[in-house]
Amino acid sequence: MSLLSNSTLEITLHQLMTKGEQILKAYNKHDASIDARLLLCHLLGCNHMSLVLNKNEIISRQLEETYMYLIAKRTQGMPLQYITKSQEFMGLDFYVDERVLIPRQDTETLVETVIDIIRKEKLKEIIEIGSGSGCISVSLAHFLEDVKITAIDISQEALDVTFKNAVFHGVNDRINCVKSNLLDDYTGEPNSIDLIISNPPYISKDEMSSLMEEVNDYEPKLALTDGLDGLTFYRKISKQAKQFLKLNGILAYEIGYNQSEAVTEIMINEGFKDIKVIKDLAGKDRVIVARN
Ligand code: GLN
Repeated sequence: MSLLSNSTLEITLHQLMTKGEQILKAYNKHDASIDARLLLCHLLGCNHMSLVLNKNEIISRQLEETYMYLIAKRTQGMPLQYITKSQEFMGLDFYVDERVLIPRQDTETLVETVIDIIRKEKLKEIIEIGSGSGCISVSLAHFLEDVKITAIDISQEALDVTFKNAVFHGVNDRINCVKSNLLDDYTGEPNSIDLIISNPPYISKDEMSSLMEEVNDYEPKLALTDGLDGLTFYRKISKQAKQFLKLNGILAYEIGYNQSEAVTEIMINEGFKDIKVIKDLAGKDRVIVARN
């Protein structure tokens, strides 16, 4: 074999994916094989099946280099979703980047609970506080034709992502994005809202150090923690929500697995009734709903 052909050694799709997997394994990434495949699918814009069907296809040098660049980002610890710029939530595809938290499966428990309530009680006027990627607001608007949602976030950067996902899913006509610290700059009528929903930053300062490194290094701190005891936003939102909820309106939160008692107490102190705690699929307390 000549020197020339050696230096332009051709590599197949399958070989490239194996190379990616081996590098990720060397960096102790435990989902090495899945991540290597997903990154290749992302790069080629194809699904797993076409990877298998075309595994013997020769890959261009340029694609190989780009793939190695993506693998390198993953070895550095960047979450897969920030590399592929997407995360599935409630069966929908959401655009994500480092401006927002990556949607979690736990949060589907909150959305499913609230969808049931909204259907049963035929609710319409909704506010989401801290919309981030928009996974909650957009899912609600997607699955419920009649709702009108105000999606609030303190971060304009995050709100831009909420809007992007609302447009992507064709629900931007029913989601109004408002930049505000909680309800501070919300100018709607008092006692006019049927339901307020929030997945606020609830990790306490102490618990931040026990989070996975990838979460701590890449996901926005502002969306994860209040820098205090993790309960700050439940206190503030529960107080502010009273002013805008209708009588019997609903307040629904995602909570940390160990926060149900503390948040129940906060809600009782603000005068909420019919307080219910709901568990996630792992059997942990995850959602709390109450009535004004
Ligand atoms: N509402 C978004 C979510 O549930 C963002 C939450 C947050 O940033 N704390 O993922």
